[in-house]
Amino acid sequence: MPSIYTPQDPVRQYPNPPFPAQQQSAPGDIRKMDPAPDHGETSYIGSGRLAGRKAIVTGADSGIGRAVAIAYAREGADVALSYLAEEHEQAKEVAALVEAAGQRALLFPGDLQDETVDAALVAKTVESFGGVDILAIIAGTMPTVDSIDDFETETLDHVLKTNIYPLFWLTKAASPHLKPGAAIVTCSSIQGFQPSPALAEYAVSKAGIANWTRAMAQQLAERGIRVNGVAPGPVWTPLQPAFVPNEKIESFGSESAYGRPGQPVELAPPFVLLASQEASYISGETIAVTGGTPVH
Ligand code: NAD
Ligand code: MG
Repeated sequence: MPSIYTPQDPVRQYPNPPFPAQQQSAPGDIRKMDPAPDHGETSYIGSGRLAGRKAIVTGADSGIGRAVAIAYAREGADVALSYLAEEHEQAKEVAALVEAAGQRALLFPGDLQDETVDAALVAKTVESFGGVDILAIIAGTMPTVDSIDDFETETLDHVLKTNIYPLFWLTKAASPHLKPGAAIVTCSSIQGFQPSPALAEYAVSKAGIANWTRAMAQQLAERGIRVNGVAPGPVWTPLQPAFVPNEKIESFGSESAYGRPGQPVELAPPFVLLASQEASYISGETIAVTGGTPVH
């Protein structure tokens, strides 16, 4: 297989549907996915673009967060890995990859729905690394609810507490430590712009993330802190078999212009760019990474 840096047809670069039927319970496990996702473990090569930086990555055990944590370390950053306690085994693999890249890793299991956990994540990172200057807020949950008749307040509370509140809590806790040149990168979704009918709770949170990104970019501009986001299309991560019914998994990604889902490693470069000083004039933007599907 050619390297990810070799020009080639992106449509055929990674597996296409149909995929084998598979279902998991949340939060899901990458080792149960068929085909195995690519998080850059053997494919991503860094070039020092984040040398000396100190990053927090949430959702860092699996999927997009795992790919971002690996890429940040290979670009020269120390990385604090936030994940749920039941994901510890996957997170340990990421920590080993961060350390193999010559960087420090901090393992931080905890439920970010609790403000004190968000504050502790920042405090522990500062204590371990001597500061923090990149926040990649990637953790998320995605329950599906087919009908408004099945709407439950607890579901919306859970989605907002997981997907929205940590933006405020982590940024507030990190604020005293963020110096000019620091960067915050959020994870919205194509769902925040073109919602699917069964994802109303999730989609409204993802629209909120893109909106928060615009507000916070203006608020923090005078302090020299940039705030941007990424809006992925369909990506081959455990979130999908954990929350989406099997028949949709078999054809997952076929709706994109490429006809395939993205691999987590394909999301890493925009997260690296937005965290790095190369993006000095980019703030308040959410970059769509969708395999050719327009996002408005
Ligand atoms: P993933 O399941 O690998 O990652 C989600 C992570 O969120 C989990 O690993 C878990 O560590 C973390 N998480 C969930 N609830 C948490 C909580 N209460 N406290 C702490 N951590 C918690 O799946 P992924 O697809 O890589 O998801 C990462 C982000 O990408 C999510 O925000 C998701 O909405 C977004 N996204 C995914 C897709 C896709 O198709 N996979 C598309 C668009 C956006
Ligand atoms: Mg996970």
